[in-house]
Amino acid sequence: MSIHGEHAQAPAARVYISGPISGALDGNRAAFGAAESLIKDCSHIPVNPQKLDHEHEGPCRGIRNVRHADDTRPEPHLYGCYMAPDLRALLDCDMIVMLAGWTGSRGARLEHDVADACGLDIVLPSQYLPGALRLWRENRLAASLRRPAVQDTQDAMAPVVDNV
Ligand SMILES: [Zn+2]
Repeated sequence: MSIHGEHAQAPAARVYISGPISGALDGNRAAFGAAESLIKDCSHIPVNPQKLDHEHEGPCRGIRNVRHADDTRPEPHLYGCYMAPDLRALLDCDMIVMLAGWTGSRGARLEHDVADACGLDIVLPSQYLPGALRLWRENRLAASLRRPAVQDTQDAMAPVVDNV
């Protein structure tokens, strides 16, 4: 039994973490890790693109990645090798959290716009992430409580009045 067992029945959001990676010292791992821990502590499911599998069949695609100037390690893949699996993972998420500095990252701006177009909840660095996660859960619970009423014929025929 985990310490979060009391939330076992509560719906959990899949939350994609988006922020600058290329060009950030050590790939911005500390910021991604901190967000991941916070999402877990709130009993939701973090999706950290830095931990996704970017190995693939066939040739690498896209432009060459730019690392931070202090980082001389060889980059194993091209830009598209990272973006394609990251965007696929993003589309399975309910929410995206933008890390500080995201507007300076081409990839993060792209992820933000995809999330926006696809109707994911977006949490900006200025917003309180635990509060956004709690609101998501309350809304999801409220929606699930309304659902049985729709099975009643009269309710199903009634005009939809939705204040959420
Ligand atoms: Zn590749």
